[in-house]
Amino acid sequence: MPIMAVLPCCSPSDAHGSISFDSCPFFFPGPFMSDIITRFAPSPTGYLHIGGARTALFNWLFARANDGKFLLRVEDTDRARSTSEATQAILDGMAWLGLDHDDEVYYQSKNAARHAQIAHSLLQSGGAYRCYMTPDEVTAEREAAREEGRLFCSPWREKEADDAPENKPCVIRLKAPREGETVIDDQVQGTVTFANTALDDLILLRADGTPTYMLAVVVDDHDMCVSHVIRGDDHLVNAARQCLIYQALNWPAPIFAHIPLIHGPDGKKLSKRHGALGVEAYRDMGYLPEAMRNYLVRLGWAHGDMEIASTEELITVFSLAGINKAPARLDFDKMASINAHYLHRADNDRLAGLALDYMKGVKNWPINTAAEQRVRGAMEIIKKRAKTISDLAEQSYFLVRQRPIPLSGKTAKPLKGDAMPRLARLREVLQSQSDWQIEALDKGLKDFAETEEVGFGKVGQPLRAALSGGAPAPDLGTTCALLGKEETLARLNDALAANIA
Ligand code: GLU
Repeated sequence: MPIMAVLPCCSPSDAHGSISFDSCPFFFPGPFMSDIITRFAPSPTGYLHIGGARTALFNWLFARANDGKFLLRVEDTDRARSTSEATQAILDGMAWLGLDHDDEVYYQSKNAARHAQIAHSLLQSGGAYRCYMTPDEVTAEREAAREEGRLFCSPWREKEADDAPENKPCVIRLKAPREGETVIDDQVQGTVTFANTALDDLILLRADGTPTYMLAVVVDDHDMCVSHVIRGDDHLVNAARQCLIYQALNWPAPIFAHIPLIHGPDGKKLSKRHGALGVEAYRDMGYLPEAMRNYLVRLGWAHGDMEIASTEELITVFSLAGINKAPARLDFDKMASINAHYLHRADNDRLAGLALDYMKGVKNWPINTAAEQRVRGAMEIIKKRAKTISDLAEQSYFLVRQRPIPLSGKTAKPLKGDAMPRLARLREVLQSQSDWQIEALDKGLKDFAETEEVGFGKVGQPLRAALSGGAPAPDLGTTCALLGKEETLARLNDALAANIA
């Protein structure tokens, strides 16, 4: 579905829908290509955090909802802070969330020569100038400007090229307009107006010839034919400054949508003290990617009272109009309950695989083939008792415990009095039990308690101690069924042999 661009910083005829072939040196839109191209542009300086993941998701959904393209650009121009581990963490986080991008990953650092070339073209056209101020002069001018309540101004703005000193380092600055306004027709924030008197001559190219973020982002968004820039509203002022660069280059600006940041449950700006902030932490804690997608989209976006929506549904209804203007608050309980919803409906084999990976990889529990089979067979029941994969693992622990199970813990105290002989009699009854289904086992255990003329607790407690050793386990009939007859009897034998009963 093509969307008409509203372009505040350029003439409507330049809109991306009608952009010429030559303007897109890296991505060549054919005549049938959609108008919508979004991008996620993380700086690889850390893991993929919740806020970044949500930005990526909004961009991905908007592209997928409009038959568009979703591009990934790693903004690694800051070589000192960018690491390959962080790049990998971002790629892994996106892959885990299922946010597949179109085309190759685009690395901004590879385009430095193009950025420099554009800065120099602006010098030629008079849209930029060389500034030879020393760092001390810059500091002094900033201070003076602040005290006088005016904009920072380089004396080199008005100087002639002939005045330039030889062999002195210089930066290239944008010659920003001193009058008028820059208007952002933002899809989330509405019309936002900036007085140009508040936007100083930003640096495009540093003295060492490297591009600044402001320049690189404009050149890359243009070259990648990005139609919609959807990102955190901490970039709103940057959008105004970037518009000035677009204007100077006579390029169409993309459509902007600046989304409010995410706050912690206490309403304060999200920070480390709010707990796990990287998506990989949620993966490791046992959240499902489809649940994370559903939870993250609802962090700041709404469609009527829709709470639970599959990714397919989201793709059909997602629009920028549904993004809220107010910051969203993280709600860990809600995240867990959405995860539980998806977990209860997930395929048992998939869940068993994830739970087993967790048990082996995170818990380091040795698991043999028979135990693995028990976990696989138990998923339908165990998943109803879990909200996350880590819950699944904990709830399945009784199935994989190695024999003989050490009898300790609250429900596994050494048995006294007639508990041991009763357990021995129960072992005989269970041995002769031919129907090993849950209902038959429930009935068998109940009948046994009646025959013994004791309350069920007198039967249940020693049996539970012998079978699970204090680990969480379902009702006893279910526990026996999930363990299987052979394992149940073997664990009973162990308990009896250990003479605890
Ligand atoms: N690299 C920037 C960041 O991680 C985002 C730039 C943008 O989206 O324009 O904050």
